[in-house]
Amino acid sequence: MHVIGKISLCLSIATAVLALPPPEARAEDASCPAGALGVSRIIEVDTTGGPWFGEPHGDPNFLAPGEVVLTFDDGPSPNDTREVLAALAKECTKATFFMVGEMVAVHPEIVKEVAEAGHTIGIHSWTHPNMARLTLPEVTHEVEATFDIVQKNSPEPVAPFFRYPYLSSSKITEDYFKSRNIGQFAIDIDSSDWRVRSSAPVIARIMAGLKKRGRGIILMHDIHKWTADAVPTILQKLKAGGYKVVQLKAKTPVQLVADVAPPPPKPVVRQVARKGKHRRYYSHARKSALLYRRSSNLQ
Ligand SMILES: [Zn+2]
Repeated sequence: MHVIGKISLCLSIATAVLALPPPEARAEDASCPAGALGVSRIIEVDTTGGPWFGEPHGDPNFLAPGEVVLTFDDGPSPNDTREVLAALAKECTKATFFMVGEMVAVHPEIVKEVAEAGHTIGIHSWTHPNMARLTLPEVTHEVEATFDIVQKNSPEPVAPFFRYPYLSSSKITEDYFKSRNIGQFAIDIDSSDWRVRSSAPVIARIMAGLKKRGRGIILMHDIHKWTADAVPTILQKLKAGGYKVVQLKAKTPVQLVADVAPPPPKPVVRQVARKGKHRRYYSHARKSALLYRRSSNLQ
């Protein structure tokens, strides 16, 4: 072999070695079935200055054509989050879970399971309020207490990512997240899974949204049985459609603020007289617990 040939061979070996993924990623890949959806790339997100992601404020070219980000809000919940985790693991793909503080308080062990499976964890407030109606001290309690409880239960660093409940923000919240270097998340494609009670419309809505936009951050909720049931089919359809899953990770973990207590609990059930009728309002955790009990009874 010529000297130049030897050098180029050495260089290609060196390049190949440098290009190898870290050992833990290789081990995970080895357990993945051939043709699994996987993760096409990881975007390391710099949250300095509280940037927006998703419509209407986020950079529309944050994702390349065909790229999707899977997100799940409102959990963790015992049955549904675990079912979602199992479906994602089967396809060796990753998502972001925006967790609710009062849900974590009831099911802290699931935070660890989500983190250990390699998914990204952000937060979605403590009580799931309309953030636009809150004062600055209330915003502080909703945000900081939730980051605190999630980080306490996660063996991995929690991302400084916040998904707005009802996608509702205000000047106060925006200024707050900017000052705290916390990414502000909206969505691109809404599964509208909270409006329905079966998997088919969830799947249809996501695929129709993707056909229209060609890429995007997809919103689902890991507190609904029909959503958890839909995930395997959604992943198959993403694969068949040539879509690529992108995982978002934080460049730097969230910086916790010490000693911020959770907001005062909402009444579990309150009766409100409205147009002569009584309506029941449940706290987020209570509503989810009822759904969980109902779905468990069905099994
Ligand atoms: Zn929500």
